Amino acid sequence: MLVLGIESSCDETAVAVVEVGKKGLSVRSSLVASQVAFHRPFGGIVPEIASRKHVEVIYALCQEALREARVELSAIDLLAVTNGPGLVGSLVVGVSFAKALAYGLNKSLSPVDHVKAHSLAIFLEKPIEFPFISLVVSGGHTALFLVKSPTEHYLLGQTRDDAAGEAFDKVAKLLDLGYPGGPLISRLAETGEASKIDLPRPMLDSPDLDFSFSGLKTAVLNLVRSGRAFMVHDLCAAFETAVCEVLMEKSRRALKQLGLKRLVVSGGVAANRRLRESFAKLAETEGLEVYFPPPVYCTDNAAMVAIAGYYEFMAGNTADLKLDVYARSQFPRYPG
Ligand code: ATP
Ligand code: MG
Ligand code: FE
Repeated sequence: MLVLGIESSCDETAVAVVEVGKKGLSVRSSLVASQVAFHRPFGGIVPEIASRKHVEVIYALCQEALREARVELSAIDLLAVTNGPGLVGSLVVGVSFAKALAYGLNKSLSPVDHVKAHSLAIFLEKPIEFPFISLVVSGGHTALFLVKSPTEHYLLGQTRDDAAGEAFDKVAKLLDLGYPGGPLISRLAETGEASKIDLPRPMLDSPDLDFSFSGLKTAVLNLVRSGRAFMVHDLCAAFETAVCEVLMEKSRRALKQLGLKRLVVSGGVAANRRLRESFAKLAETEGLEVYFPPPVYCTDNAAMVAIAGYYEFMAGNTADLKLDVYARSQFPRYPG
């Protein structure tokens, strides 16, 4: 089965062709057109620019993805598209495009939740047994889920304010490092010494599985404003370490509470090297299985949308031309 995945929830337009067959799965093409350069002068995403850029590139990107996959459009069996959460004006572009293709080709269209797609990106590399705990750490989300099957995500905890990626971006902005902040902080942190600066570990005293990152950002801001001397790379290392420790501790507790040993970490921040190394160490000391998608499938892409759409289709979830978009996900809570 050939699935065409389409993603336009935020500031990346992405199209991918994924083949799912009896012998497994292969990503035939996965293209991402990033708008980062257009938003950089504003230090963040400008929704109006985002929607317009999606409109400009989506058709050509789709053609290129088909060409790279050596697949004719008529050979596509299923359209999979992100219809939320994200920027409504951006989502509408991908969804309208996917609807037109589904209508024109007379093929099924499966709606995909972007957060679930991040969570399932690991399946592009290897199959994982269910159930597992999923930690999604991205630009707009930081949440823990119990994943019972590809289409069943139960929310265990989430951030009460900023997402981890958002905290990276905001800290980078207040340090004047540039945009987006994650990769920039990560690079500087490599030569820094985390122990030189003391930063809080928010929410570790709280018994739930929720997170909070705005206090950590404020601690960095206070340090900068205090006029105290510090090295930027030490601060980056300290910040990264604080984020990693909180994410690890809450994930460990989630696994313990649910009596599970399998953890999948995904989303843009899961591309972070320190995070990957810290979780790998945790896996070793605690006897856990921790999985990370390859970094290109951690950040936004359409291959993860294609695979998530395939699972939705297999579960009977297809949409008609009335399919709408949504800004925020509503996941059922565990245990209910
Ligand atoms: P969401 O998935 O929540 O809707 P999004 O799609 O914008 O948001 P992603 O593309 O999944 O988010 O991730 C982008 C975020 O990941 C940004 O905040 C970015 O700073 C962060 N990020 C990317 N690479 C790294 C890295 N190496 N280290 C830390 N953070 C990173
Ligand atoms: Mg993005
Ligand atoms: Fe994302």
